[in-house]
Amino acid sequence: RYDGPRADEILRKRSEYLSPSMYYFYKKPLNIVEGKMQYLFDQDGRRYLDAFAGIATVCCGHCHPDVVDAVVRQTSRLQHSTVVYLNHAIADFAEALASKLPGDLKVVFFTNSGTEANELALLITRLYTGCHDIVSVRNAYHGNAAGTMGTTAQNNWKFNVMQSGVHHAMNPDPYRGAFGSDGEKYARDVQEIIEFGTSGQVAGFISESIQGVGGIVELAPGYLPAVYESIRKAGGLCIADEVQSGFARTGSHFWGFEAHGIVPDIVTMAKGIGNGIPLGAVVTTPEIAQVLTRRNYFNTFGGNPVCTAGGLAVLRVLEKEKLQQNALLVGSYLRDRLKALQEKHEIIGDVRGRGMMLGVELVTDLKQKTPARTEISHAMDQMKDMGVLVGKGGFYGNVFRITPPLCFTKEDADFFIEVMDIALSRL
Ligand code: PMP
Repeated sequence: RYDGPRADEILRKRSEYLSPSMYYFYKKPLNIVEGKMQYLFDQDGRRYLDAFAGIATVCCGHCHPDVVDAVVRQTSRLQHSTVVYLNHAIADFAEALASKLPGDLKVVFFTNSGTEANELALLITRLYTGCHDIVSVRNAYHGNAAGTMGTTAQNNWKFNVMQSGVHHAMNPDPYRGAFGSDGEKYARDVQEIIEFGTSGQVAGFISESIQGVGGIVELAPGYLPAVYESIRKAGGLCIADEVQSGFARTGSHFWGFEAHGIVPDIVTMAKGIGNGIPLGAVVTTPEIAQVLTRRNYFNTFGGNPVCTAGGLAVLRVLEKEKLQQNALLVGSYLRDRLKALQEKHEIIGDVRGRGMMLGVELVTDLKQKTPARTEISHAMDQMKDMGVLVGKGGFYGNVFRITPPLCFTKEDADFFIEVMDIALSRL
């Protein structure tokens, strides 16, 4: 039973004491007071199936007992000292994390968020190469600090930031892009940016493996291998932003980049790595990591024992409960059922994604691909009333983002489909 503050009181405090830029889903915003595995509970004890997972953040399930236990035990023993002393938690997690990455990617820097991880990754490329130019992909989201906001490439997430040295390449978007699914054609744009927009040498390239905030856009096949080749020829380093697509979410692989047959020079991660705990990381090779010894690089909370103990527990749960396999199995099943729903509802323009990172794009006109913005908000509200929470995003705000906790079951998928079907039928 919950007898804490109600939604109206929280709303009043939010409007008075919190940033006016904060927004919420739903006409009548939900007061969520508890989470358990794939479920969230509101102030009245009403249960919701969570198909958004705090934006692909909760990977093993809300308040997974093993993760809670690891965090609580560490919290009661030691919360913080500083990395200038030794503690096993940070070292154990770094070792476990390195074992999940290919090649020579084994040196870990811990941060507190995805933004921080990407800021550090960008800095490393610039230090390593002595160059300044960075190429990022249009429609990307990489964070909201000075450097990352420059690489983020959607105007609704950009303030008046100095985009020093950042070039935004054509988005290899199979649904809306000019070249359809021909990845190599889009990759020519990066080659031309290097040739016409830089000295010919660049610091690096950053990209998500599947765009999350941008509306679950899978990059056209062949794009990343061709771009990596161009960037490396120009002396640059390649960063894979795995903040959403990493940590078993895509099912077929542990990291999203693996499906593209590439090995990055730097991998950044956050969100799922902590199952809800603020934790991020940058992983690179011993040789590249050396550049940060030129000055002091320090992060007060990065790699603190509580978060790294939690992170290690997350990795163990993923393995013990075979959640990557579940993401593949249930995710593929859900994708098939969404595809079938597309046959029935003309408003569904596209179904895409991998594993438990799926997108459903709504359009009012299949030919023009006119974004169905109002319709999606209406459908989301309906789905909420029927007990299902789903995300939305994309540049036009018309894409359902389906990124549930990886413990989502086939029965959950069936329920989700049933509810989405009804919501779309009522439009
Ligand atoms: N990269 C990607 C791909 C993201 O989706 C996000 C967050 N939406 C970030 C980076 C930034 O992470 P954070 O919000 O933890 O700073």
